[in-house]
Amino acid sequence: MQHSRRREYHIVVLGAGGVGKSCLTSQFVHKEWIEYYDPTIEDVYRKVIDVDGRSCILEILDTAGTEQFTAMREIYMKAGQGFLLVYSITSLSTLTELSDLRDQILRIKEADSVPLVIVGNKSDLEEDRAVRRDRAILLSQKWGRVPFYETSARKRQNVDEVFLDLCRQMMRADVGGSG
Ligand code: GDP
Ligand code: MG
Repeated sequence: MQHSRRREYHIVVLGAGGVGKSCLTSQFVHKEWIEYYDPTIEDVYRKVIDVDGRSCILEILDTAGTEQFTAMREIYMKAGQGFLLVYSITSLSTLTELSDLRDQILRIKEADSVPLVIVGNKSDLEEDRAVRRDRAILLSQKWGRVPFYETSARKRQNVDEVFLDLCRQMMRADVGGSG
């Protein structure tokens, strides 16, 4: 049937090295905690999920580049429809780095806004916290109330929630083709 056609969305997971992009992706896709991930591995994962009664195919690119402005990065930013911008609550510089990433996304997509979620990972490491929640909330407001979650890939807290939020934003923006 035409309207039960599956939508397909391209998600790009971005952020500094070591913030937990691969662990978050693995927890979401396979429900598996992996203590050590090769930091140089960049890979694409596919998962079918149900969002408010609609089946969606997600293609998730777990990025690994430390270099910021490469041709490759431009290509996948252009193809991406939703972005998880991940920092670690244990490192302030990983949060401040997100602004450059967002600027780059908006420039490449020639848009004022794109489906995006700010993700403060490693929330289980409260004793090592270096970034207060207010700090990320301020950034979220500056960017036009972009959704913000703190997550723990280790404890699998808020992992599904960030992906679902992003899916709902992409559905609202109606960016998915017919899969
Ligand atoms: P990436 O470079 O952003 O892909 O980061 P990884 O997913 O490889 O994770 C980097 C390191 O942080 C690994 O040693 C993980 O075990 C650890 N890590 C990732 N997520 C969490 C988390 O939610 N809590 C804690 N305590 N450690 C995490
Ligand atoms: Mg990784």
